[in-house]
Amino acid sequence: MPASFANSHLSSSTNLKRKAYNDDDNIDHPRKLPAIAEHNASRPLQQNRSAINVSKLGVGPPPLTKPRGPAITTARTTRATSAPLKPSAVPRPASRVALASRTGVARTTSGPLAPTVISTQFQTLQSQVASIEHARAADVARLAADMDSERSKVAELQANHLAMSRELATARTQELSQRRDLVNASDELDALRKKHAREVMDIEMDLKKRDREIRELNEDLRIVRGDLERERDAGTLLKATVAQQSTAQITLQAQNSALQAQIGALQSSCDFSADTVTKLRLDLEMAQKRVEVLEQDAREAEMVRRRLHNMVQELKGNIRVFCRVRPLLPSDLPTNIDDVERARAEALANVVYPDQRDHREIVLSASSESATGQERKETWSFGFDKVFEPHSTQAEVFEEISQLAQSCTDGYNVCIFAYGQTGSGKSFTMEGGSASSTVGMIPRAVDQVFQATEDLKSKGWEYTLEGQFLEIYNETINDLLGNGEFDKKKHEIKHDKSGTRVTDVVVQALHSPAHVRALLARANSRRTVAATLMNERSSRSHSVFTLRIRGTNALTGEACSGALNLVDLAGSERLNASGAGSDKERLKETQSINKSLSALGDVIAALGEKSEKGDKHIPYRNSKLTYLLQNSLSGNSKTLMVLNLSPLAAHLNESLCSLRFATKVNNTTIGTAKKQTKSTS
Ligand code: ADP
Ligand code: MG
Repeated sequence: MPASFANSHLSSSTNLKRKAYNDDDNIDHPRKLPAIAEHNASRPLQQNRSAINVSKLGVGPPPLTKPRGPAITTARTTRATSAPLKPSAVPRPASRVALASRTGVARTTSGPLAPTVISTQFQTLQSQVASIEHARAADVARLAADMDSERSKVAELQANHLAMSRELATARTQELSQRRDLVNASDELDALRKKHAREVMDIEMDLKKRDREIRELNEDLRIVRGDLERERDAGTLLKATVAQQSTAQITLQAQNSALQAQIGALQSSCDFSADTVTKLRLDLEMAQKRVEVLEQDAREAEMVRRRLHNMVQELKGNIRVFCRVRPLLPSDLPTNIDDVERARAEALANVVYPDQRDHREIVLSASSESATGQERKETWSFGFDKVFEPHSTQAEVFEEISQLAQSCTDGYNVCIFAYGQTGSGKSFTMEGGSASSTVGMIPRAVDQVFQATEDLKSKGWEYTLEGQFLEIYNETINDLLGNGEFDKKKHEIKHDKSGTRVTDVVVQALHSPAHVRALLARANSRRTVAATLMNERSSRSHSVFTLRIRGTNALTGEACSGALNLVDLAGSERLNASGAGSDKERLKETQSINKSLSALGDVIAALGEKSEKGDKHIPYRNSKLTYLLQNSLSGNSKTLMVLNLSPLAAHLNESLCSLRFATKVNNTTIGTAKKQTKSTS
């Protein structure tokens, strides 16, 4: 409830009280008495004392008007009408009068008074009292009514007040609850605002995200569209392909049907084939048996081939001669020359090779001055089994020799000699260089023999190979594979049924071509160490490498043995007596070489004559070389002499000597037509 309302309420209540009070003031004094009377009604009046007090006052009879007690009025102003008056507080005169009038005691005390007057006065007083009493009763009644009304008003007001208070409390409670609601509402509002702000932010972010997504989606869309385009193109292509494929499929189906038909046909032919296979199997078995028989025939044919091969070789001539001219070497030309071509032309002997088809002829020519001063041109023509020009390769030379090397695996003895003056290329031809293209005849022949033995294994042949390497220097045999000191040990040559044998020499079992090469290298290094002047010794001695082959054939029961002798002869150049005369050793060397080479020529010549005449003595014993090679130069042996020539004009005479020697050898050959020699000398 508002304060003003409360105040007004309160003030109205106060006014109401004040009004009541003022009304009380305004009433006549006797009207106030009922209160006292009311107050004293409960107890009996004290007449004696009032009578006494009235007499004491000495005041004549009070006017018959309405008594007024000023003192009482004043005293009464200080007392509430509701409050009972104390006896002491009642104004004395008035009460004394009243009491006196009531009790009548005052006469006894104050002196004698006329009884009538007194009784009149008393009656008057009594009537006054009665009226007062009556007025008082009326006042009391009125006051009681007023009081009741006031009380009811108060009660009403209190009820109002209570109601108002309740309303106020209710209003306050409401206000409080409203305030709380308000606070809650504002909190809620704040929360809502914040939430809203957050939501707005979220929505903005979401929007941005969406924007981004939209952009990405747009990009994706663009790519997908591109893909789609391509897919469409591909689809179009595929459709075209599918169309083609379906056409092809139709074709294939048609083919398939045709093939099915064929399969049917094939099935029946397959059944037929199965029968055929069975028959063929039987045929095969028969054929295998036949193959075995034929293999046997082949082995027999191989034996026949060997015999025929030998016959062919014999018809070709058991002694054959090749001529090889080495190329011009840089070392052949003098140093510090201006015109190389001219120097070459001057250095070279005049050699031509007229037979460009069969390569069997060599023609040398030279100009000389006659005694009469005339220029005389001389020409020497020689024919051989093969003539190799300076540009010929080792492989080309070996191609012609390989047949011979093959023969030793067939059980023949083969001798290959390199003949010629020092520096003509004998060692190059026989041993060669280290490069595969320059490898010489010895390593190539060895390779060939090993290869042949391998090939013949399939025909039942098993071979054992062994080698020895000897040097004949001054008619003394040295073992190039041994360890002994040169020219010290005495080696003897023995011939018996098993073949030729040299005492105390190393005969090495050979397992591979590489093994043989290692042996040759060792032999050469021994020769080098033994020689004071390397080229001197090697060119002044013969070296004989012998590869002995023994074979057995378990299938045919055959056995064979052969030997391949590869001989690098000492230089054939003739030293004039004066050159060698001063040096005894040199002379001895020369005599030994001449002797052995002559003996070789003689033996070969005698062999030729023997073949022609029948029984002719062959002088094998004339030299260690011929004696050593006795078995390889007679009977079924095959001999090849490679005549090495120098291309130099300076060596023309030596070349002619060599050519004549070789021609002598060549002419002894059986079965070959004698070569025509044109000689003007
Ligand atoms: P020989 O043994 O007869 O004394 P060499 O074989 O030692 O002669 O040869 C002498 C030189 O000539 C060597 O340097 C050798 O390499 C070379 N020679 C020989 N023949 C040929 C050839 N056909 N091709 C190339 N060089 C060769
Ligand atoms: Mg040599």
